[in-house]
Amino acid sequence: MSIQSNIQNIRQFIPADVKLVCVSKYHPNEAIEEAYSCGERVFGESKVQEMCGKYEMLPKDIEWHFIGHLQSNKIKSIVPFVSLIHGVDSFKLLTEINKHAEKANRKVNCLLQVHIAQEETKFGFSERELIEVLSGNEWKNLKNVQICGLMGMATFSNSENQVRAEFKTLKNLFSKLKADFFPTEDSFKEISMGMSADFKLAIDEGSSMVRIGSSIFGNRIY
Ligand SMILES: *Cc1c(COP(=O)(O)O)cnc(C)c1O
Repeated sequence: MSIQSNIQNIRQFIPADVKLVCVSKYHPNEAIEEAYSCGERVFGESKVQEMCGKYEMLPKDIEWHFIGHLQSNKIKSIVPFVSLIHGVDSFKLLTEINKHAEKANRKVNCLLQVHIAQEETKFGFSERELIEVLSGNEWKNLKNVQICGLMGMATFSNSENQVRAEFKTLKNLFSKLKADFFPTEDSFKEISMGMSADFKLAIDEGSSMVRIGSSIFGNRIY
């Protein structure tokens, strides 16, 4: 299957108000160019160096989303051009992003990652930690980051019930946080959930942004 036919196939299932992030990590520039020629403009990467290299080489109207685990010492290189950082999983990281964004004279869009899966290996805040952070006032002083919503990854599981329940948990938490902490902030609106294996369930459960890699570009070679 070609990238073009994969995109055409997937696009049938994505409503107009859900954003498709084409996860191009580990795939070459040519693959991104092919998706770009189909009209795709939003690409997700998980390694800082790789994303910076691709940004240099590829068209400047691409929206680059960072979806990996971001290390503090690497924030600086993506801050000038990144459109959205999906995986902010600590207050310290948010503070560091804010610091670099201020120097770059930018406001950087961020999603707070929530740990919704059963696996220990996935990153993210617990619900309790997140409420603790947002209940404080410190985050409001971070003028160079915009908290745009939440991101989560479901358990890698064949159980549709389990995956669906985890997406529901994220959606419910989003609604609660929206009401309690962002009632008048239109920019707090994103729920980034759903990947190749589970994006249809995620859309069913209220996703606003799906991150799809292998179903578009094929298997990754690490
Ligand atoms: C790699 C990755 C994806 C894409 O996964 P696929 O199963 O290939 O669609 C989505 N989200 C995150 C956070 C990832 O690291």
